[in-house]
Amino acid sequence: MGFFTVFMIEILKKRVLNGEELTFNEVLELSSTLDKEDLYSAANLIRDFFLGDIIELCSITNAKSGNCLQDCKWCSQSVYSKSNIDYYEIIKDEDAVNDAIVNSSQGVNRHSLVTSGRSVDNNSLNKLISIYKQISKKSSVKLCASMGLVTKAQLSRLKNEANVSCYHCNIETAPSYFSELVSKHTIEEKIYTIKCAQEVGLKVCSGVIIGMGETMSQRIEMAFLLRRLNITSVPINILQPIKGTALENMPPLSEEEIITSIALFRFVLPSANLRLAGGRVQTKNFQHRMLKAGISALLTGNYLTSTGLTINEDIEIITNAGLKIDNGN
Ligand code: SF4
Repeated sequence: MGFFTVFMIEILKKRVLNGEELTFNEVLELSSTLDKEDLYSAANLIRDFFLGDIIELCSITNAKSGNCLQDCKWCSQSVYSKSNIDYYEIIKDEDAVNDAIVNSSQGVNRHSLVTSGRSVDNNSLNKLISIYKQISKKSSVKLCASMGLVTKAQLSRLKNEANVSCYHCNIETAPSYFSELVSKHTIEEKIYTIKCAQEVGLKVCSGVIIGMGETMSQRIEMAFLLRRLNITSVPINILQPIKGTALENMPPLSEEEIITSIALFRFVLPSANLRLAGGRVQTKNFQHRMLKAGISALLTGNYLTSTGLTINEDIEIITNAGLKIDNGN
């Protein structure tokens, strides 16, 4: 594999701006460039061309925590992890509603309820739908859901009864690596759920966790799968190893490897919202570099069992990078 020059980066950038789709091998070659700053600038320009200078903020509530029978190696909510986390069944209505209202009043325009577990039963779904209805009465925040491998009928209920507009289901990692990390379900089941959500008319948010031992080539594989699935909202999580999980000793990715990965995602998914999600704290010192290498959205506030950056910290990061916050209009 040869090293890509600035000239070649420029050619590929122009092709992306012209609406052309690059091939897997072209993006793989791009990953080897030594002209990293030029790669990041090109990704930044692609983001600016397709999405402007607006950064979207969203937030989540962990609406059911822990006791998951699945064995995802990164996850502290799995019964196979020894992590010290809170366990609860469906969250109290007032706590979930309050989260959504407070975050919305601070500039967040999308909020999701997220539940642990392979999926949710209908009894839990009824309670969650009731929470969504209460949020809608008090706020205009757009609603998202992340509830695992739910059925098509349940997805329809989320859309039609709860006014959810977007369903979240990460592919998590590359198809060629998934079985190294999870044995209790498959990436094909996730893809099936994604397609069901699309079929009932929901938008789909689907992303990845990088830094779980995969190669750069496998990260590109993830981006191409998301492109094939027509995903327009892509959370990029950077593994923040949690004590007690199977990946607790995973060495961290370097700053350059993270930013290069983001830039490559931007070349493959030029008009998608690339959303920085988990892993914000350990990357706090180079948030502005990620925002200038293709990122167009942030998952703000805390995550499921880990801490993120506050909404005010994120607003400051966005403003300092010369970007603006999406006000939902
Ligand atoms: S990622 Fe989801 S399905 Fe996997 S162990 Fe955690 S809660 Fe369960």
